[in-house]
Amino acid sequence: MIGPRNNYLLVVLDSCRFDSFVAANPHTILRLGALERRWSYASWTAPSHYNLLMGLLPHASPHNVYASEYYARDFANYAARLGTDDVQFKHLLPALYLPTFLKRKLGYRTHALMSLPVLNSATPLNRDFDSFTLMPTHNDMAAMLDRLRFDADQPLFYVLNVGETHYPFALPSEDPSAWPHISGVHGVFQHLDERMVGGKLVNAEEPVALDRAQLERLRTRQVEAVRYLDTVFERLFDLVPPNTYITVTADHGELFGEDGYFGHGPIQHDKVYEVPLVEGKLR
Ligand SMILES: [Zn+2]
Repeated sequence: MIGPRNNYLLVVLDSCRFDSFVAANPHTILRLGALERRWSYASWTAPSHYNLLMGLLPHASPHNVYASEYYARDFANYAARLGTDDVQFKHLLPALYLPTFLKRKLGYRTHALMSLPVLNSATPLNRDFDSFTLMPTHNDMAAMLDRLRFDADQPLFYVLNVGETHYPFALPSEDPSAWPHISGVHGVFQHLDERMVGGKLVNAEEPVALDRAQLERLRTRQVEAVRYLDTVFERLFDLVPPNTYITVTADHGELFGEDGYFGHGPIQHDKVYEVPLVEGKLR
């Protein structure tokens, strides 16, 4: 195997629905390549990131293919991502963990910058990372850019968990007192706030009345968050070295009232799995 030539950035837009991404039409991100509609393996943040860090990006839901064959084919795409001549799924054995493979077998420096507290450094995800940082606020990708360091002599892997696209879809410039306050479902939303800062989960047993107009406003806020993030990617693209391959995807989608669902997690619905994927190297 020829040594890696690329830095690799995996950017996860937390909760970003495929159709929110399409509606935002983020020109800068789309410079990386064609937008693909993919499916997350999990409906919420922790298991989805574990899967992503196993090296399995959201899948294409292929027909008439065994899972093992799909994994093998999908994993071969890391040859292009890393700039090596050959990468196979078996190279991940026995740990089956991308940071372990990159650090121990390919000599990468490995770093995680996470926005959501369920991805904090005490979790089992923090394995074979040179640094694993929970950002001070949940919604500031721009602050992550100041922490990126590249090295001409050693390839870098970064995973960035980006929170602007997560409830309450707030930009860093927005005063938290101006975040959505939904009458009627406020109790649930308060719990969602707690989940965001304290890891508590919504009480799924509690029936709530969902206000369509307010949910539509939240959907619009997610689209606006993607448009804003596109300007942050402009800065990101200016600062990454040319030998950097970038994957942009989401860990799961989000429900905005469809079939009586809000949010993500304990939900069985297409829209909680349908996610965007764009990747490539800047030319
Ligand atoms: Zn998430």
